[in-house]
Amino acid sequence: MVPQKIVCSGCGFCLYEGDLLKSPQDIIKKYNGRCPNCNKKLDFSPESVTVSPYRAEEADAK
Ligand SMILES: [Zn+2]
Repeated sequence: MVPQKIVCSGCGFCLYEGDLLKSPQDIIKKYNGRCPNCNKKLDFSPESVTVSPYRAEEADAK
């Protein structure tokens, strides 16, 4: 299973990082809809969070 990372698109704060695949919705719910770092309102749109395979060494060009 590919490790996963979900970051706030506003400030880059790492909301989730781990081996389990989680939906952004679950993560957003966990933080009550707000980034704990920059207080940006998180919604379910793909633009508000970035989900990517957690692979530091080989980031795909977006
Ligand atoms: Zn943030």
